[in-house]
Amino acid sequence: MAFLGRHLSISGSIANSVSAAEELGCTAMQIFTRNPRGWATNPVSDSDAKAFRDALSTSSIKKTISHLPYLPNFATPKESLYELSKRSLDDEAERCGKLGIDYIVMHLGSHMGKGREFGVDRVSSAVSEAAKMLKGPMILLENQSAQLNSIGSTTEELAEIRDRIGSKRVGFCLDTCHAFAAGYDIRKEEVVDTIFKSLGKENVPVVHLNDAKFPINSHRDRHENIGFGEIGRKGFDALLHSADISGKTLILETPVGSNISPKEEISLVRKLME
Ligand SMILES: [Zn+2]
Ligand SMILES: [Zn+2]
Repeated sequence: MAFLGRHLSISGSIANSVSAAEELGCTAMQIFTRNPRGWATNPVSDSDAKAFRDALSTSSIKKTISHLPYLPNFATPKESLYELSKRSLDDEAERCGKLGIDYIVMHLGSHMGKGREFGVDRVSSAVSEAAKMLKGPMILLENQSAQLNSIGSTTEELAEIRDRIGSKRVGFCLDTCHAFAAGYDIRKEEVVDTIFKSLGKENVPVVHLNDAKFPINSHRDRHENIGFGEIGRKGFDALLHSADISGKTLILETPVGSNISPKEEISLVRKLME
């Protein structure tokens, strides 16, 4: 059995996101615990944390994920940005500990022209420092779309980074849109299992299930609703039936627009999983 959910807004209150997820038929959910486009944060209050934990404990939601904001860059040559990035990861780990969130998903960042080795080095030392302090949540490194200078778009690079970090508290999140954009043809039956195998199957507890707006190998990170993009309904059907997704948490990060409602999209994926 797999857990299924989507990324949800916490506008209003963080505890409300739990009932919103339940209304969509989710058994898992992902949130930003803070504004994803700014550095400033307010600490999680004791009462918010309690309300969130209480709501979760009586809900159908079994797995919770926080996505780190977009601003941090763990591969950057800029010292001030690097320090801010590390601080925001530490801060997120603390927030998630308080909220009882299972996983923190993070993008690794861009070396901005300094080269792959430089980027891998930077990311590995930043995450290993954070991993030493971790209490509660696991950190998951998310694969990227092979945009210029980005770190973490191949399974080899991701596995190398995890090896260097050397912590059991660090794993991976596989994003289907990003993998497709980076050139992995996940519509083909054996490809996702091969990815799981090269990362270590048990090291990939979370899959971001997103269709892709652009064709394979586009190097562009643009999500589309399941069945409405280039991976397509047939692609997801094959993927969900052939890959061993038992016990994994599948999270949609797809647009909320005119193609399909979030509730229908969850039902569609549930149907494809049958
Ligand atoms: Zn993702
Ligand atoms: Zn993306």
